[in-house]
Amino acid sequence: MDTAVTREGLREGVREICARFSDGYWRGLDARREYPEEFVRTMTESGYLGAFIPDEYGGMGLGLADTSVILEEINRSGGNAQPAHAQVYTMGTLLKHGSEEQKREYLPKIASGEIRLQAFGVTEPEAGTDTTSLSTTARRSPDGDRYIVNGRKMYISRVQHSDCMILLARTTPREEVKRKSEGLSVFLFDLGEAEGNGLTINPRRVMINNETNELVFEDLEIPAGALIGEEGQGFRYVLDGMNAERVLIAAECIGNGRWFVDKATERAKEREVFGRPIGQNQGIQFPIARAHVRVEAADLMRFRAAEMFESGEPCGAEANMALLLAAEAAWEAANVAMQTFGGYSYDAEYDVERKFRETRLFQVAPISTNLILSYVGEHVLGLPRSF
Ligand SMILES: Cc1cc2nc3c(=O)[nH]c(=O)nc-3n(C[C@H](O)[C@H](O)[C@H](O)COP(=O)(O)OP(=O)(O)OC[C@H]3O[C@@H](n4cnc5c(N)ncnc54)[C@H](O)[C@@H]3O)c2cc1C
Repeated sequence: MDTAVTREGLREGVREICARFSDGYWRGLDARREYPEEFVRTMTESGYLGAFIPDEYGGMGLGLADTSVILEEINRSGGNAQPAHAQVYTMGTLLKHGSEEQKREYLPKIASGEIRLQAFGVTEPEAGTDTTSLSTTARRSPDGDRYIVNGRKMYISRVQHSDCMILLARTTPREEVKRKSEGLSVFLFDLGEAEGNGLTINPRRVMINNETNELVFEDLEIPAGALIGEEGQGFRYVLDGMNAERVLIAAECIGNGRWFVDKATERAKEREVFGRPIGQNQGIQFPIARAHVRVEAADLMRFRAAEMFESGEPCGAEANMALLLAAEAAWEAANVAMQTFGGYSYDAEYDVERKFRETRLFQVAPISTNLILSYVGEHVLGLPRSF
């Protein structure tokens, strides 16, 4: 699916659905801190959240570039793709490393909406940026048919709206492996069975409407069949999925950036101060124009990274650069919109403050822009390793 017409058709299809969910819908959810059940259900039924799942497993079988357009359009419409996006990007681990049996069991049900896979557990209280220092363990039971999980995870989103989750845990003690990145494994297990049977979910209140949680594992038993791929290779599997995730999040930032530029432009044309539209002042006009230029530039890097990913070329540098450019462009556009709206930018009714809070996240999570710069410094420019 790579012709301009088809991609435009895809955009229109997503826009048509998003148009059914007004700014008021998202604003109301934000105020009540509620999950967009109806939106996610509609997107799932339309097939869009199964975009990345190949046709043979009941999905749309789209490439990364087209899939990213779906998330972009959600954010551009004024909505927030966060509540639904994990379903799209966690898929990579299962698709690439899951057994045929796991794929047949889960993918068609995820594509149809029967199973929601929205939770991805990596971060821990003492291991965020430094992922491989994580201390949650999964040990094989003596009879070998189960793993026993112990430890804590932090800021794990959407657990309440997911039927199962993907978890990264240590299966070989740190002292028994040569490198910290070895001995970690990925599991896919049922959350319904786990909660209350060794898994406690403690919600954390954060700056945006994103249900995120501390998870406490105390002797949680999961079946040995929950393991994805080979034991001990989990970190590599998670890294594998990162390039796709970076591109998808970059697309969400671009969606936000365009929303802010559109809103600021509209306001600058309409709002009259000193008897003329504020957009006539170059002090207002130029920052909006600059934000637009930056969003468009980031968009080019997003598509470059996506196309390289699709053709199987190494795209770590491009995917990381796309996310950095897009996160910063969206943030610049957010600030410009705040300035253009003046006092009204603080008023929830104008939605700028909500999107402003939402867009700030992308410089911090899922990866901090510092770590992207470190990647570029070390792996692209060959500068000395700092950690
Ligand atoms: C709303 C929200 C939802 C989230 N959802 C999930 C989820 O679903 N699943 C999940 O696993 N995680 C989730 N996270 C966690 C997120 O991925 C982490 O917060 C993120 O990876 C950063 O880790 P940290 O917060 O521990 O920061 P830290 O590791 O404490 O780092 C703090 C700061 O120091 C910087 N820093 C650290 N070392 C260096 C260095 N050597 N050089 C330069 N700078 C450095 C970092 O870049 C960062 O800016 C979520 C977070 C939020 C806020």
